[in-house]
Amino acid sequence: MPSIDALADRLSTYLDDDQVNLVRRAYFYAEQAHDGQRRRSGEPYVTHPLAVASILADMHMDHQSLMAAMLHDVIEDTGIAKEALDAQFGESVAELVDGVSKLTQMNFETKAEAQAENFQKMAMAMARDIRVILVKLADRLHNMRTLEVLSGEKRRRIAKETLEIYAPIANRLGMHSMRVEFEDLGFKAMHPMRSERIRAAVKRARGNRKEIVNKIEESITHCLAREGMEGEVMGREKHLYGIYQKMRGKRRAFNEIMDVYAFRIVVDKVDTCYRVLGAVHNLYKPLPGRFKDYIAIPKANGYQSLHTTLFGMHGVPIEIQIRTREMEELANNGIAAHWLYKSNEEDQPKGSHARARQWVKGVLEMQQRAGNSLEFIESVKIDLFPDEVYVFTPKGKIMELPKGSTAVDFAYAVHTDVGNTCIACRINRRLAPLSEPLQSGSTVEIVSAPGARPNPAWLNFVVTGKARTHIRHALKQQRRSESISLGERLLNKVLTGLDSHLDKISAERIQATLGEYRLEVIEDLLEDIGLGNRMAYVVARRLLADSGDERPSSEGPLAIRGTEGLVLSYAKCCTPIPGDPIVGHLSAGKGMVVHLENCKNIGEIRHNPEKCIQLSWAKDVTGEFNVELRVELEHQRGLIALLASSVNAADGNIEKIGMDERDGRISVVQLIVSVHDRVHLARVIRKLRALKGVIHINRVRA
Ligand code: MN
Repeated sequence: MPSIDALADRLSTYLDDDQVNLVRRAYFYAEQAHDGQRRRSGEPYVTHPLAVASILADMHMDHQSLMAAMLHDVIEDTGIAKEALDAQFGESVAELVDGVSKLTQMNFETKAEAQAENFQKMAMAMARDIRVILVKLADRLHNMRTLEVLSGEKRRRIAKETLEIYAPIANRLGMHSMRVEFEDLGFKAMHPMRSERIRAAVKRARGNRKEIVNKIEESITHCLAREGMEGEVMGREKHLYGIYQKMRGKRRAFNEIMDVYAFRIVVDKVDTCYRVLGAVHNLYKPLPGRFKDYIAIPKANGYQSLHTTLFGMHGVPIEIQIRTREMEELANNGIAAHWLYKSNEEDQPKGSHARARQWVKGVLEMQQRAGNSLEFIESVKIDLFPDEVYVFTPKGKIMELPKGSTAVDFAYAVHTDVGNTCIACRINRRLAPLSEPLQSGSTVEIVSAPGARPNPAWLNFVVTGKARTHIRHALKQQRRSESISLGERLLNKVLTGLDSHLDKISAERIQATLGEYRLEVIEDLLEDIGLGNRMAYVVARRLLADSGDERPSSEGPLAIRGTEGLVLSYAKCCTPIPGDPIVGHLSAGKGMVVHLENCKNIGEIRHNPEKCIQLSWAKDVTGEFNVELRVELEHQRGLIALLASSVNAADGNIEKIGMDERDGRISVVQLIVSVHDRVHLARVIRKLRALKGVIHINRVRA
């Protein structure tokens, strides 16, 4: 059981006796004021303010903060007036207690509003005296440490608020230790099972890693000794919530995260930091682009350190932080480490203190601009998390996404199926491109269609790992099933020419052939054929166990249906359309490209059966095919409109149009028209020819 005497002993290591006595007096005052009150756990209430003061003592806070901690619930819970505290302990302490009470005192209409109000009060109090926030953070920390006695719903509400509001503030003030504790306690309260699973996994991994950790630590220590430098080398572990967020946000496997070995080297002075950096870069190979000098350019919350990543033995990545003891202190306790508050002085804050002040000032300015609490919290959140955007679903739910996210990222964040079937989006009720980066505060609505598929072009603009992974996965699935079906048709075509069929070949024979190719299932083989990685006729001969190299003679051409999708494409050079004589060019990994039989680009390989294959058009071929037409005609007014309406009258579509004026009289127009087949094309050309002034029409081919 902690006692005021034990605390007073600790305080006397850094405070005057007079100051320690003032803290004692505040304690006894609180004890009396809360007399008869108990915490939910059954302990006397005063144990709570004592614990809060003790947390602040760990950070070596001044005596006024400690007194305010002792008294922080007195106004709120015992009805003692601010004036009474003023008379007893002076104005500064009374103001601090009042500030903390105001943060705690609010009654709220809605939960979202409650958070916003809380936040606002906190920011305002911070601006007046930043110690208010530190007392409030310590208060929250002790409540989080003793959260277990509360009911499930209340526990979750407090945990959520801690994760959303208090942990980010601690982070912004550079108070790493507190932030980590907030996050791990909040995580445990929100997701007890997940937190426990990760904790157990970390424990297991720690056992496995021990040997490597020791080896690396030893070799770094030796290296420093050899160079005559003193430094403390310690292994670091990520905290549970940090691991969880990495697994969730970046979709990384637990093992992947634990595969990184992290160390910190704490030294005496800045100069040594750089010398140690040189030494470890000699010891192991550094990973290019990963070195960061936060000593020269500190982070916004005042954090300073050198960061680098090395390749250790057997290529294990080693993350190293190098810093002085002072920087270490600052990294753990942030603004509290720089504690410079002198009670009766107009202080000139420096370092992280100044930055925190600046932040608070910015927050207040934003607050004046913002109309209401919710707007305010949005703008503050943006400032706290500059790398994230907050958007709303049509039902008003807030979604948090990395900066630069698009509607496609949003769709996948909502649900994988929404992402996979999304075809368009409305941003603030207006149709917008799927690739447009989202702005905080927008409402995003996804338009989806059953059976729609992800577009490969999305990969060019999505930023979230989730979207990227799912798009790749869906495309791969689609490509695989299309490749298999094309491969099967290619193979059966050859087999038919050899008087056989895949159905007629025994399972043993197929299995034996798969064995020769080191493949597992027939689909893998068919996929390979469809993708052009294997030649159908070579495979067919293997399957028939036919060693003769005589070519199949009665091999009929493979019919193209126009629905082959990703594994079949039409050559841009000669733009074949149904009805044209065609050949297929197989290129490894790309599937089949359909060319005109007399296309110049395949001249030399046309008769090489390993690269080209005879094709025909299926009777029921479907689709739209682009052809290029060159129309020479007399120049006239409204010429484009005339051409367009003729093409239209023949049910064709103009995809592109270009025009050269040859001289004042003759124009040459290039049209790219989409048609169903040659008969359709002939109809289009007839219509065009009927136009007045047309001199010549021809189809352009390579
Ligand atoms: Mn409290």
